[in-house]
Amino acid sequence: MSNTPLSLTELEQRNDFIGRHIGPDENEMQVMLDTIDAESLDALIQETVPAGILLPEPLKVGEGATEVDALAELKAVAKKNKINRSFIGMGYYDTHVPNVILRNVLENPGWYTAYTPYQPEIAQGRLEAILNFQQLTIDLTGLELASASLLDEATAAAEAMALSKRVSKNRKASLYFIADDVHPQTRDVVETRAEMFGFGIITGPAEEAAEHDVFGALLQYPTTTGEIKDISAIIAAVQAKKGIVSVAADLMSLVLLRSPGEMGADVVFGSAQRFGVPMGYGGPHAAFFATRDAYKRSLPGRIIGVSKDTRGRPALRMALQTREQHIRREKANSNICTAQVLLANMASFYAVYHGPQGLRTIAQRIHRFADIFARALAVKEVGTLHNTYFDTITVQTDNKQAILDAAYAKGINLRADLENAVGVSFDETTTRQDIEQLLDVFLSEGHGLSVEKLDAEVTTQAIESIPNDLQRTSDFLTHEVFNQYHSETEMLRYIKSLENKDLALNHSMISLGSCTMKLNATAEMIPVTWPEFGGLHPFAPLDQAAGYQEMISELSDWLINITGYDNLSMQPNSGAQGEYAGLLAIQRYHESRGEGHRNVCLIPSSAHGTNPASAQMVSLKVVVVNCDSDGNVDLNDLRAKAEEVGDNLSCAMITYPSTHGVYEKTAREICDIIHQHGGQVYMDGANMNAQVGITSPGFIGSDVSHLNLHKTFCIPHGGGGPGMGPIGVKSHLAPFLPNHTVVNVDTAGEQCGAVSAAPWGSASILPISYMYIKMMGSAGLRKATEVAILNANYVAKKLSGHFEVLYTGANGRVAHECIIDLRPLKEASGVTEMDVAKRLNDYGFHAPTMSFPVAGTLMIEPTESEALYELDRFCEAMISIREEIAKVESGEWDATDNPLHNAPHTLADICDSDWNRSYDRNTAAYPVEAVARNKFWPTVNRIDDVYGDRNLVCSCPDLDSYRDIAE
Ligand SMILES: *Cc1c(COP(=O)(O)O)cnc(C)c1O
Repeated sequence: MSNTPLSLTELEQRNDFIGRHIGPDENEMQVMLDTIDAESLDALIQETVPAGILLPEPLKVGEGATEVDALAELKAVAKKNKINRSFIGMGYYDTHVPNVILRNVLENPGWYTAYTPYQPEIAQGRLEAILNFQQLTIDLTGLELASASLLDEATAAAEAMALSKRVSKNRKASLYFIADDVHPQTRDVVETRAEMFGFGIITGPAEEAAEHDVFGALLQYPTTTGEIKDISAIIAAVQAKKGIVSVAADLMSLVLLRSPGEMGADVVFGSAQRFGVPMGYGGPHAAFFATRDAYKRSLPGRIIGVSKDTRGRPALRMALQTREQHIRREKANSNICTAQVLLANMASFYAVYHGPQGLRTIAQRIHRFADIFARALAVKEVGTLHNTYFDTITVQTDNKQAILDAAYAKGINLRADLENAVGVSFDETTTRQDIEQLLDVFLSEGHGLSVEKLDAEVTTQAIESIPNDLQRTSDFLTHEVFNQYHSETEMLRYIKSLENKDLALNHSMISLGSCTMKLNATAEMIPVTWPEFGGLHPFAPLDQAAGYQEMISELSDWLINITGYDNLSMQPNSGAQGEYAGLLAIQRYHESRGEGHRNVCLIPSSAHGTNPASAQMVSLKVVVVNCDSDGNVDLNDLRAKAEEVGDNLSCAMITYPSTHGVYEKTAREICDIIHQHGGQVYMDGANMNAQVGITSPGFIGSDVSHLNLHKTFCIPHGGGGPGMGPIGVKSHLAPFLPNHTVVNVDTAGEQCGAVSAAPWGSASILPISYMYIKMMGSAGLRKATEVAILNANYVAKKLSGHFEVLYTGANGRVAHECIIDLRPLKEASGVTEMDVAKRLNDYGFHAPTMSFPVAGTLMIEPTESEALYELDRFCEAMISIREEIAKVESGEWDATDNPLHNAPHTLADICDSDWNRSYDRNTAAYPVEAVARNKFWPTVNRIDDVYGDRNLVCSCPDLDSYRDIAE
């Protein structure tokens, strides 16, 4: 350290953030470089990354800014958004996020940095919160089975259509009916999806649904313009002709309404946004999805189920996983992977906090405002579209623009996309003052009406705006959990008690390969809950969203520079959605050239399951390309298969660096071969953490990629979502980027349908990636990639004397992750990769990615954010576990009576009065000294997967059934 005094300018230029984001400091890096025998970081990159793909020049995303400056700059941008009072509705409503949930869930790394609960023994907290979400869905929809969240209402509708096709007994039908009173963005997304599946779409009045030979029908309740009608006859008529009926529903309205399930619906879905999740210019929000028990194997997305642990206690886990893309690939129900767990948890906590009575009060208040407003219009003889409604009044007018303008002048937004009508939707935040302002907008001056008087008239007139036979009579949320935590003290403790059960990044490193669990810096998270970003409706006039548009446009430019592409779409709201959008662009491009017959997609055997699942969604045939013994795509096989399919080649989907964790030398050649055959190259961008600033998909020669902003660009995983999956494309694919029927997206193609409900996807989490790039700058981003590679090579080196590192590239180096092979150990000792994963819990770690892309292995990705101390702690745990395996192998420990087989160990084990195992309690719980200093206790023992799938329970069990299991 030098003591020469620095000038003010020099001091000001010191950017601490890069050093905060990147774990190891310069001294630690030197230690690590020495360990792996590399001269310098630069030399390591030269040895690791093939020379031909190294970027010739640095990124152009500017210099890194300090946290203080970046926050100030973004705040100035955010202030350009104008937050009007929103009455637009259409699936997005203002809501009061309960502060106890805002601070203790949305703003709490214990909740937002957790991973998808694949290791359920250290995830019982969020599993319980999601189970509550499923119960909430089941109770309000009136159906039997619910999933753990989908991406948004419109994509859930598309999933409902796909499910209908799978389960309908009307096998020959290829037509699908959409009622004309479904939200326009929902229709848009479903129509796009239908076109790619080759389904025909019929639209018309809901009453005509059964007049067509369809495999299914989509209705909405209440309708997009607010009407409530009895749909049971329509449902029955469609079902009589073997069609499956799906109903898009508003969750809040269902508090007061007879449920679609009770009216016979097969599927009910919608958005849970207004249960305490900000509108955020379109997301992220959780979609709910419920269906009949009979269709459980066809349900898209994850399901949480109740099972039991080895002590016979009830324990939660993800159920029926063999339906999902990880296993079934192109035969999967859906390509959905990342969902919306954090937001589903928020919605479920909202229901827990308010309880059935609180929700009834909220819903009744919303409905009362609608009644009062409707009464005023009736008194003044202003025409409305419907006499029945929950929260939405659609007002007829010949003077639409004048009304909209009068409203804008008062800071009010109304629904503007209807012909000769405007929509007014009320929500939890509506006040008397709002109604007074609306009356001034809609009625001529001096109308003389008062809210007080109108309210009294609503009572005396006994207006039946919810028809008697459509009032809810069934109970809901009767489980204890929804009736117990209504004081803030109790709620705070409930949230905390669940958080304590879960291992997240605020406890220890989560080295999940392919998932890039890096730092989600607090400065990146802070803007997410600024009201300037949270309060905007996605269909607000563009001039009110100037701040968002500026932020999105700047972020797009940066990502374009980073990926080496020409254009970008922010619409896809997960990686898998990005894959779908990218393949859609490829197919539309082929069609535009008269080559729409190209229908084969080549995918290496090492690909992530979403790749083939997405290919199936655009009706591509998947042909698998082999990998060679080094884990590389087998070029000869690729060439042969490309030749074989010839003219029918649509594209190849490749991952770079490969899922095997090496920089293949042949990436450019792969692109060339595919292009020679007239195909396009889709590069899965999940591994961008090994590319940023060093190489890029566009530079390597691919045509389109998605980026997982929730991996490389610091959006936290939220326990299984949210995420963002924007796609970058070369200019020839730009005309085929998704547009939106309600809001024109200026960077999109003219005639392309939407892939998500909102025009810019989950816009409110984009500030996270924006802040990351802003604070790191060009040099910081490159450094992050270099250190990610250094950290992975360090871990590989430290473990290599103890485990076999499966694949290495040039000079024995790995990329940003490495795979260790446990198969030989299993062979010798009987200890499985599952035992190792669970034993890591005892050491306070989340397991690495298991058995992907190779069964019987662990894939470790430390990321650049982990410092040497934590890497060493992890390696110490792994090496100690290796020694434990040796004891089993040698017979010193019994094959089953050993800490690996019995892992994870709980306090119940340690406190058990008859401890009768061949190893002591200390070995069980404190296997190395570092553990004792910061012990994490798994709250349940190993969970029985088979039992859980055989005895599927996906709702909150009543207390009696807990007793049954315990006996
Ligand atoms: C994570 C991942 C995906 C899927 O992304 P989601 O956001 O979960 O949909 C696709 N491919 C690879 C290689 C991934 O790691």
